[in-house]
Amino acid sequence: MKKYQIKLSLARLEKENIITEDSFDADFLELENDGILSVISPVTFKFEAQLHASGVVIRGNATVTISGECGRCLAPVEETVSTEYTLFLDELGSGDEIDIADDIREELLLAFPANIICDEECKGLCPHCGINLNRKSCKCADSAPDAPSPWDALDQLK
Ligand SMILES: [Zn+2]
Ligand SMILES: [Zn+2]
Repeated sequence: MKKYQIKLSLARLEKENIITEDSFDADFLELENDGILSVISPVTFKFEAQLHASGVVIRGNATVTISGECGRCLAPVEETVSTEYTLFLDELGSGDEIDIADDIREELLLAFPANIICDEECKGLCPHCGINLNRKSCKCADSAPDAPSPWDALDQLK
């Protein structure tokens, strides 16, 4: 697997802020292809890095488009995931460069939804007949046997 790096020169940071805008292929995110969710666009990111007395502050954003199945009705869904982050790196190591690729990957992955749904209002599939309740309705809910009500027993006493 290709190893992505986003390197910043500390010597250059001592002179000026570094502003970077770039995009990487989807495999930058190192996601397993689990068949549930796939990344369907390059990862784009932009940040400004600034050197402070105690470390490097990086402010930026990152965006990617993902696709998957709605967790309720299984319809295909595309969703744009984006995040804005502020990173503070105080362990700069002994080299003259720092690599923030892992940090940016982590920030973007944290913004991924725990489950994808096509719409907040999605009604999902009927658990009895499997029909997509967004498009059609079924009678399963009507014909499901109701729990016996305590009034039934009282009725029989009449
Ligand atoms: Zn849905
Ligand atoms: Zn049904």
